[in-house]
Amino acid sequence: MNLEKELQDRSGGVCELCGSSEGLSVLEVAPSDATANTAIYVCSKCAPQIQDASLLDEAHLNCLNDTMWSETPVVQVVSYRLLNALGRQDLVDMMYMDDELKAYADAGLVDASSANETVVHKDANGVVLQTGDTVVITKDLDVKGTTFTAKRGTAVRNIALVHDNSELIEGRVNGVKIQILTKFLKKS
Ligand SMILES: [Zn+2]
Repeated sequence: MNLEKELQDRSGGVCELCGSSEGLSVLEVAPSDATANTAIYVCSKCAPQIQDASLLDEAHLNCLNDTMWSETPVVQVVSYRLLNALGRQDLVDMMYMDDELKAYADAGLVDASSANETVVHKDANGVVLQTGDTVVITKDLDVKGTTFTAKRGTAVRNIALVHDNSELIEGRVNGVKIQILTKFLKKS
């Protein structure tokens, strides 16, 4: 039996978090062993929220009040992680999981303190930039400490993010390593 079929049977063909039948898909729950024990069947509304804590929709996730009591361990695990992400320690404290399941659930927790420190770099269009990306300069820029201008349209390859400042990246222009404001960049 394939994984999706197995999850369809387990869930009764609905989202295992909110009960919706819209846009259902299999989501592996890291650390995954590629079995139904570490995968959840979720709708297109719940899936992105599991993958990206910045998309959490607290009203939609009221469904967790029920799913935290699920008899399916992996559904409990996902509920636990989402409740943590929502800061609902009151509900987290009510959950019961054995040590093994708790360890699995904790393995996927984003450490709140480090999450707060995470700086997200975005280009002029709001596209998230990552280390190694290639960007294009959108405006002629005078480069501090040099005599040259970084011309509009110049591609900067293999950028590095400046960790403590979401508005700056580092890259080489004319062979010189410079820092550039993200608002003057477009990801290419
Ligand atoms: Zn759902």
